[in-house]
Amino acid sequence: MSAIQANAELVAHCGLYCGACKSYIGGKCKGCHENSKATWCKVRSCCTDKQIKTCAECTEFADPQACTKFNNFMSKLFGFVFNSDRAACIAQIKQVGLEGHATAMAELGSHTIKR
Ligand code: SF4
Ligand code: SF4
Repeated sequence: MSAIQANAELVAHCGLYCGACKSYIGGKCKGCHENSKATWCKVRSCCTDKQIKTCAECTEFADPQACTKFNNFMSKLFGFVFNSDRAACIAQIKQVGLEGHATAMAELGSHTIKR
């Protein structure tokens, strides 16, 4: 098991920080960008199609909460169950950039900003 490191490449398309996720640290998952099996995720496929790193770069929606790919019944349910606020993660990326977000999340030791 490796320690949590700050790495901008490990910021998921939706703003979560894979570098602090137990599955990534435990070697069970390579992280959002490398996880081509995550075909179910509309956010991932949308960002891949747009060739952008995260929804923070989206030119369609200034607020990802207005996007039904980002914000829908399932994402609300997951956000509630996992106490996760991905929109806050995207807002933080807009404020401090990918590097700053990765650093902040590594320091926090969490894959998400809590709700
Ligand atoms: S929800 Fe989608 S974009 Fe976010 S980490 Fe998972 S696969 Fe990636
Ligand atoms: S906010 Fe919606 S449209 Fe914009 S990149 Fe994210 S998933 Fe795609």
